Amino acid sequence: MSGQADVIIIGGGIIGCSLAWELAKRDVDVLLLERDDIAFGQSSRAWGFVRQQRRHPAEIPLMKAANQMWPTLSAELEADFEWTQHGIMAIADSEERMSYYRDWYEQTREFGIETQLLTTRDIRKLNPDMQGAWVGGIYTPGDGHAEPGQATKAFARAAEKLGARIRTGVTVDGIDVDGGQVRGVRANGEYIRARTVVCAAGTWSARLARTIGLDLLQRSVRQTVVEVEPRREISRIATWTPGVAFRQRPGGTVYLARPDDGDMDVDLDAIRNVGWFIPNYLENRDAFRINIGKTLLRDLKRIRPTSRHFRKQFAESAGIEPAPNPDVAQRCRHAFIRLFPHTGNPEVVRTWGGVIDTTPDALPVMGEAPEIAGFVWATGFSGHGFGIGPAAGKALAQLIDSGQSEFDLTPFRPDRFQSGYSFDTTKIG
Ligand SMILES: Cc1cc2nc3c(=O)[nH]c(=O)nc-3n(C[C@H](O)[C@H](O)[C@H](O)COP(=O)(O)OP(=O)(O)OC[C@H]3O[C@@H](n4cnc5c(N)ncnc54)[C@H](O)[C@@H]3O)c2cc1C
Repeated sequence: MSGQADVIIIGGGIIGCSLAWELAKRDVDVLLLERDDIAFGQSSRAWGFVRQQRRHPAEIPLMKAANQMWPTLSAELEADFEWTQHGIMAIADSEERMSYYRDWYEQTREFGIETQLLTTRDIRKLNPDMQGAWVGGIYTPGDGHAEPGQATKAFARAAEKLGARIRTGVTVDGIDVDGGQVRGVRANGEYIRARTVVCAAGTWSARLARTIGLDLLQRSVRQTVVEVEPRREISRIATWTPGVAFRQRPGGTVYLARPDDGDMDVDLDAIRNVGWFIPNYLENRDAFRINIGKTLLRDLKRIRPTSRHFRKQFAESAGIEPAPNPDVAQRCRHAFIRLFPHTGNPEVVRTWGGVIDTTPDALPVMGEAPEIAGFVWATGFSGHGFGIGPAAGKALAQLIDSGQSEFDLTPFRPDRFQSGYSFDTTKIG
């Protein structure tokens, strides 16, 4: 491995890979280091929704830009990743849920996202086979979906073609900082120099950054996804219903998930700074199970981490698959069968788990750390980083290459979590 790069990116998820591509397009000498394989983390486990719908207003400009990028990306990256653009629909079975959709619609009209509020009859027209008693819904025809792992790998391959160096099986376990400036990283026993180091390490970002004394407010939630084979067309519209969210891939299989049925495996990060997460937790208290056990014990054994401990922890965690929750998988299937009884008992192709990283306000952390010159955050995408990924990569590349971005990144500034910072809570599902 060469001992030097202009920019080192830690993490080969959608954020790291789209950033590598954007930097390579700008002729920046970039080296991406990934502990496992490209897209081993959240970026291959996501459902693949690319949605502007129900986004926080602060994210909408970036998300609108991403939606404009997605339709041409397949041609630009020279890869197929099942991009499908037939909209996203969310359905309400209560007035309370419908008023939440209506509020979002009213609050974000100024952004000009084409969106329709739906009556029960509209829902039947959009998906005549779907059974259930609905109050109404919301539909955003310009939204879409894609296969996350394939899209992430396409970014990595395209970046390599433009000269980016991408190394997998390489764990960064130390970041060298001297005189308030990043100098390089340690990875697999080697030292690599760089004046810019980007932390795109997903759920591992907080632990990695703590090795250089930075505190990232980050918490993890495990989700379960099921892929079934109904052997008939369900819909090309990706849909959230109260019992299950689903999207049908072009090949016919369907991803099922329950956004409000997550497992929070309490670790030290969940306890540290717990106060910041309480508002969102209270808003979504029915959306998680809190599990106190193995994960916390593992962290407590390393409560005073030395670099040796971190090295061990990073190394040990490589290649570990998050466990899916079998009860959630069952609930997904049952809810899907209730929606589409005519599919009988669709065969389960696979079930998997994925761990989402979230921040207190469910917005990402993007930009240079004020405490350390050259250390750039690109993390905390809070369960919706896949869709926004291409634009996030572009915005960060602009920032790194020229010191400024065409996008307003102030809502995502790394130092926003200080006393007095107030934010809206985000409702899941
Ligand atoms: C079940 C599930 C469903 C989701 N559904 C959607 C959806 O429908 N739409 C949407 O927009 N978003 C969705 N998301 C969220 C989305 O997947 C994430 O926001 C996005 O993938 C984050 O990308 P990332 O690059 O920041 O992180 P990741 O994809 O997690 O990548 C981080 C990478 O860093 C690597 N790494 C960590 N530490 C080190 C180290 N020390 N050295 C080297 N490498 C390291 C990891 O191995 C990993 O590959 C979902 C997430 C999950 C889990």
